[in-house]
Amino acid sequence: MTDNERFRPTPWRLFSTRFSYMLLPGHCKLCKSDSMRSLDLCALCESDLPDIGDHCNICSEPSANPWPKALAKPLTCGNCLNRTPYFSHAHIPYLYKAPIDRLLISFKFKGDLVAGKVLGKLLSQHIEQCIKHDLAVPQAIIPVPLHWWRRLGRGFNQAHELAMTLSKHLNIPVNNKLVLRKTHTSAQHHLNREQRLHNLRDAFSVSRYACAEQIEGKSFAIVDDVLTTGSTANAIAKLLIDNGAARVVVWAVARAALEN
Ligand SMILES: [Zn+2]
Ligand SMILES: [Zn+2]
Repeated sequence: MTDNERFRPTPWRLFSTRFSYMLLPGHCKLCKSDSMRSLDLCALCESDLPDIGDHCNICSEPSANPWPKALAKPLTCGNCLNRTPYFSHAHIPYLYKAPIDRLLISFKFKGDLVAGKVLGKLLSQHIEQCIKHDLAVPQAIIPVPLHWWRRLGRGFNQAHELAMTLSKHLNIPVNNKLVLRKTHTSAQHHLNREQRLHNLRDAFSVSRYACAEQIEGKSFAIVDDVLTTGSTANAIAKLLIDNGAARVVVWAVARAALEN
């Protein structure tokens, strides 16, 4: 299957999407007006979303200052130069700030699955462009697993919801059985990079039901909603690479700045 064929929606999907939006027009999640298209976000609000701008060519950490125009190739940040991540690249379209933070908060903490669909579709569009340029298509999408206890509290895993939308648009299967979360790690957003690494030690494992052929020589995309230091994605990437994976990339909606 060529990449163009991969992304061409089936006639049935095209018809059902258009028909459902004819019956119930898209409603913009941000400005609350009719979106006038088959996405619950209007074109104007989409153009206001904070682009990630110049960023590290591995972990996508945003650059504090715009790069010189004459720069021949993208730069690598100090953290990646000090300790190269196990994933080869993080593909992230947005910065975690207004107004995309509103969509992410409604999705993750208020259970707004429509906002989740919008975010999944925006991420799919970005990944589609990356694949058309240079990204090799991974063989499976792995959502960052939630510990069962937290999943029980939230009712869903936001990374899995995003992965399902990506899978539908990009025709890449989701495997949410391969990597398991062993420990219920405490919330990470107030921890610094070293504390996060410590917190994540042995947090994930490969399922004992997985066979070696599912990982060896395969390429994977790890999906999460927001990347801060990338420690969680890196812990999963390490696990996959240690078990023989050929390549791991990370896909996330937004890149947040580390608080301390
Ligand atoms: Zn709008
Ligand atoms: Zn980096």
